[in-house]
Amino acid sequence: MYMQTYPEEIKIFSNTVDIHVLDKPLNVNGNLARGYFNTDENAIYLWHNPLKPNVGFTVLIHEMIEAANCYGDLQMNHTQISTISEVLSQMLLTMPPATTRIQ
Ligand SMILES: [Zn+2]
Repeated sequence: MYMQTYPEEIKIFSNTVDIHVLDKPLNVNGNLARGYFNTDENAIYLWHNPLKPNVGFTVLIHEMIEAANCYGDLQMNHTQISTISEVLSQMLLTMPPATTRIQ
């Protein structure tokens, strides 16, 4: 599973977060970044590289966790955010297609 298209927005609690997909890395305070959650704009920016579509998906998950951390006041540090994002992305990217199973 990988994602070549992205939702235009996501809902987090009562917040609507816009998703902007860019074709090059972002410049965040002078540093190149693959993604960024902008709290002032309620927006996620992410770099989609068509040669590495899974990276864009992983960055989206990371920024979604950043937004959940912010709006949910979870007070996770960045190491925790990065680790849970990587693990969740891996699980989503490697799970087999969903099937209906009745046991
Ligand atoms: Zn981050």
